[in-house]
Amino acid sequence: MTHDSLGEIQTGKIPLKGRTLPELSEIVVSLGEKPFRAKQIYHGLYVNRYESWDQFTTFSKALREKLEEQCSLTRLHTIKHLKSVDGTQKFTFASEPENGKEFEAVWIPSGDGGRKTICISSQVGCTLNCKFCATAKLEFQGNLKAHEIVDQVLQVEKTVGDRATNIVFMGMGEPFHNYFNVIRAASILHDPDALNLGARRITISTSGVVNGIRRFIENKEPYNFAISLNHPDRDGRREIMDIEEKFTLPELLQAAKDFTRELKRRITFEYVMIPGVNMGKQNADKLVKIARSLDCKINVIPLNTEFFGWRRPTPDEVREFISLLEPAGIPILNRRSPGKDIFGACGMLASKS
Ligand code: SF4
Repeated sequence: MTHDSLGEIQTGKIPLKGRTLPELSEIVVSLGEKPFRAKQIYHGLYVNRYESWDQFTTFSKALREKLEEQCSLTRLHTIKHLKSVDGTQKFTFASEPENGKEFEAVWIPSGDGGRKTICISSQVGCTLNCKFCATAKLEFQGNLKAHEIVDQVLQVEKTVGDRATNIVFMGMGEPFHNYFNVIRAASILHDPDALNLGARRITISTSGVVNGIRRFIENKEPYNFAISLNHPDRDGRREIMDIEEKFTLPELLQAAKDFTRELKRRITFEYVMIPGVNMGKQNADKLVKIARSLDCKINVIPLNTEFFGWRRPTPDEVREFISLLEPAGIPILNRRSPGKDIFGACGMLASKS
């Protein structure tokens, strides 16, 4: 067994998925083939979505046999597939079913059928401990490789027989704790020669990993960017998100401001509403103050889990909280929580898994 540059354990075969085109060219040339074969393989994997060498019918039989012998085209296995009454579908995947490392993705069609979102995972479990999140209760089992991230999209789309309009990195894991693989996967999703999704249709969301945000700004990543904020002051945030111990709210907000100023793009704040914890007039006023200080919008999400005796806010409480945020003069979206019956809603991934 050896480890290759992507950190994959392999049995002698070179894994080709999750590679950029220049990397594929290098591999193809090292196998004694012409560089143009790389583009054909890349196109076959991400445009034609082939899963075995037999499907590369434009290649000679001899070449197919050579590639079969020397290179692998790994794909995810679907361990479980649940459908909600509201059209949401949750998938539990594994790269190798026998190793027990399972992770989830969710297909979320909008009610009118216009927007079709896939929420994907970047890690198996999570090292952070956001108190409202079911993933936090799992044992952390590692980062996903780029191809395991991209393949969630390919496998979901294959099963539902449709294409996503939007991808959000809001499933299991903290994306900026797996920066390299997340950005590599996003670039394959975005590449016009691969899945060809617009950069603004791909959203990467962090719980507040400030050094990751700095890297994102420095690299001028073109993707949408969201911060899971959930409380407007330090002490309150520390109670529900342990990331606050490492990166404080003032540092986080400074990085958010730098993002909007340097990349000239709006940021999205995600705010899980927990009655008695982060709602009410005082918190709303602080949140309005934050919102006025930079170019942002806020997505509010009613709590979906029931840890610590917390409960979901009533529709009236949600309406009232939103009305308290109106003075901010910014877009505020009440994110519906589809897929609750299949534990596929926000914060629920891995619960009842
Ligand atoms: S909300 Fe995200 S960052 Fe926080 S514990 Fe859950 S998966 Fe990890």
